[in-house]
Amino acid sequence: MDNIIDIDLIVRFKKVVAASANIIIVPHTNPDGDAIGASLGLKQILENLNKKVSVIVPNNFPDFLQWIEGSNEVIDFDQHKKKALEVFEQADTLFLLDFNDFERSEKMSKVLSSFKGETVMIDHHPEPVAPCNLIISYTQVSSTCELLFRVLERAGLLNALNTKGAEALFTGIMTDTGNFSYNASDPETYRIVAALLEKGIDKDQINANVYHTFSEDRWRLIGHSLKDKMVVLHEFNTAYITLTKSELDSYNFQPGDTEGLVNFPLMVKGIVFCVLFMEKDGNVKLSLRSKGRFSVNRFAREHFSGGGHDNAAGGKSPLGMNDVIVQFESLLPQYKIQLRNSFN
Ligand code: 5GP
Ligand code: MN
Repeated sequence: MDNIIDIDLIVRFKKVVAASANIIIVPHTNPDGDAIGASLGLKQILENLNKKVSVIVPNNFPDFLQWIEGSNEVIDFDQHKKKALEVFEQADTLFLLDFNDFERSEKMSKVLSSFKGETVMIDHHPEPVAPCNLIISYTQVSSTCELLFRVLERAGLLNALNTKGAEALFTGIMTDTGNFSYNASDPETYRIVAALLEKGIDKDQINANVYHTFSEDRWRLIGHSLKDKMVVLHEFNTAYITLTKSELDSYNFQPGDTEGLVNFPLMVKGIVFCVLFMEKDGNVKLSLRSKGRFSVNRFAREHFSGGGHDNAAGGKSPLGMNDVIVQFESLLPQYKIQLRNSFN
């Protein structure tokens, strides 16, 4: 059984759960498989413990996650702000899952920071800053879903996890590790997957739900991105892809369509750093990935108002696309040696 989590945190987690009756769960903006899996997994567990639970997302989440049990009860703050605020009025406890800074919930950050009840963070990103009452934050764990399983197991609450809850948690572990291809070298991860399989999940079906439901437009956008838009800078072991709003529109872009796209350039021999630049809401949004020791968390924090993990991060820029690219390329020479030695 897991032994990395401080026992004091487990004791406090159990106390908070026992004392709460009306709970809100919030994941980060643009919630991904881990954020949604953890939120809907915890919702089901807490409901099985007879709590009233609402999941409120800052904005909508992709279709390929909408099969997860409880999806149709999720409240989208972006579209139903009034209803969401009413739920906040009633709640005694707030869980933040898969993020550690109120700002990552963007439009919800004020509501979160002014919440008067108990606040619990469960997360695996570096440098937690949100001042929650209880912070369960371990960066070495593959995903928030895996961390949540570890917490529940230590807290003796696994009986409250049924098959549909286990499906939600498996989804987060699977997606945050890119189908078990990175951050997935801890044997504990597989012991937990085994336990989820014993709960009766159909792993192949989940894989198909998430990865085999691309629209035709989504595949063609990927084709266009790789064929026409990928720039490979071998000198800096770097590659990037740009997608403008009009390109996204011409492929009928839907949330989630570019999920995973940023990983392709890392499969080019010699490339250790890549960035996907996308026009979104008048800004350019960056998705950054690396292999080895080059930290995209640090790079995104220093230059693009962002952050994340050492090998996967995000950021943004108020500049236009062309100016962002000029800025990005001008930064690379100072990292040339670090990039060349990312594996040394
Ligand atoms: P993605 O590129 O998939 O959007 O995000 C990769 C990782 O970076 C995720 O763990 C995500 O939570 C984090 N991330 C994405 N955007 C931001 C951002 O603007 N700020 C911070 N601190 N983290 C981000
Ligand atoms: Mn995560």
